[in-house]
Amino acid sequence: MTCEKDISVNGVRYRFPARPIVVICNDGGDPAYLEYALDNGIVPNIARFMKSGFAATAQAVIPSFTCPNNVSIVTGSPPAVHGISGNFYLEPETKKAVVMTGPELMRAPTILAEFSRNGAKVASVTAKDKLRQQLGKGMNIEGGSINFSSEKADTCNRREHGIENVLELVGLPLPDMYSADLSLFVLQAGVKLIEKDRPLITYLSLTDYIQHKYAPGEPEAIHYYRDIDAIVGELDRLGAVVGLIADHGMRDKSNSDGSPKVVWLQDALDRAFGKGTTTVICPITDYFAAHHGSLGSFVRVYCTDSTRAAVMRFAAGLPGIEAVYDKETASRLFELPIDREGDVVVISDGETCIGTTPAAHDLSALGDHPLRTHGGLAESYVPFILNGPLNDAYAKRAAASTLRNFHIFDFAINGVM
Ligand SMILES: [Zn+2]
Repeated sequence: MTCEKDISVNGVRYRFPARPIVVICNDGGDPAYLEYALDNGIVPNIARFMKSGFAATAQAVIPSFTCPNNVSIVTGSPPAVHGISGNFYLEPETKKAVVMTGPELMRAPTILAEFSRNGAKVASVTAKDKLRQQLGKGMNIEGGSINFSSEKADTCNRREHGIENVLELVGLPLPDMYSADLSLFVLQAGVKLIEKDRPLITYLSLTDYIQHKYAPGEPEAIHYYRDIDAIVGELDRLGAVVGLIADHGMRDKSNSDGSPKVVWLQDALDRAFGKGTTTVICPITDYFAAHHGSLGSFVRVYCTDSTRAAVMRFAAGLPGIEAVYDKETASRLFELPIDREGDVVVISDGETCIGTTPAAHDLSALGDHPLRTHGGLAESYVPFILNGPLNDAYAKRAAASTLRNFHIFDFAINGVM
């Protein structure tokens, strides 16, 4: 049954689209990769979209991490609305650090769920299984919608994922967890789903493995962008409205000798204020730690009211620190849920990342690659591209205000002519 009426999700109205909508989140897709690829003729399809469709630079959610931005994209709203403000946070009741990937922590419905509950076939495919449950929350799987990860594509079943025999459908072997193939599998699955089932709304979320490891212009990054472009071209040929977005950018954060440029904040605070007076949480932390050694550019500090002002002054004076905010200011500026915010937010600059203490970060998996990571303001700009031109109302809106990356579904569904 299809009831083709407008759907309202978190204060935004979405029309029932006439053509399939495919939004691709190129995890860690910093504008620098696209610039290099465009300058060197690596992405002819994307170049064509930018010319005949729409292209801009959008502002991602801060902290510029994967979970907050992916959930923002699928809900069309900032973390203050949906509640996911990191990959990891300190639970106020237990004072324990817990992962933030549970769907029960989400406070808002997704665009995917609302369409699937109103008669549309919807598909969400993600590279990392950690994101799958949040992206698929509330989706009507029984009604024919699909939700799976390439990481666990070999174990899909109808009841939980809405699909089985995914490896056969996609025609590729199960990809390695740390590989470009993990993302390319997601894109290829998108093509096959559009060919076979033609879902009305599809979200394809990649992994930032390549961008963490390779700088723009390195052969692996070139190859990856060439492959992405070819598949994106296929989706365009299949008649879909294609929206390209990223969750965050990516920057080299290493010293000239190749070692990571890190502020060890817990160590520094312990020396200044005494052990046990503060707790630093790195909300980039996840089980894919080999990407980045859990080093990012945004951390939360938990402390007492009496030490807070001194902690803020101290952190602001450390080299490589770009901004320090109290909980109230950070929540207001970045639209974050205040009940899940640290007492103090510390953000490092584009060249620096923040860790707790060296023993807590396993950097061995980085090998001889310079550390590339994200989380701060410098990594919060991302390309925002559509394969068709905007109607007048959305063209005016794009010209008049800063685009957010979580406007991509709104623009793809309501804004493309
Ligand atoms: Zn990411």
